[in-house]
Amino acid sequence: MTRNQKRKLRLLQRQNGKCCYCGQPLALEDATFDHVIPKAIMKWNALNNLVVSCQSCNSGFAAQPPKEKILMLSRLAFD
Ligand SMILES: [Zn+2]
Repeated sequence: MTRNQKRKLRLLQRQNGKCCYCGQPLALEDATFDHVIPKAIMKWNALNNLVVSCQSCNSGFAAQPPKEKILMLSRLAFD
């Protein structure tokens, strides 16, 4: 398992195995990284700034402003 796959697995576990946006069950091989706060704004690549989403959400939500993402993500219970 690659380092990125391990990171995805950790994020998936934190999200109860679901896409952070649509809430559908998400398989590790379909998970894509997304930055909550775009790297262009915050040069911070910590796991706390990363979520995993399905590919359709990733392409649909990637362009959303951070405020919209944070509102959507606020529904998740992060530790
Ligand atoms: Zn999704």
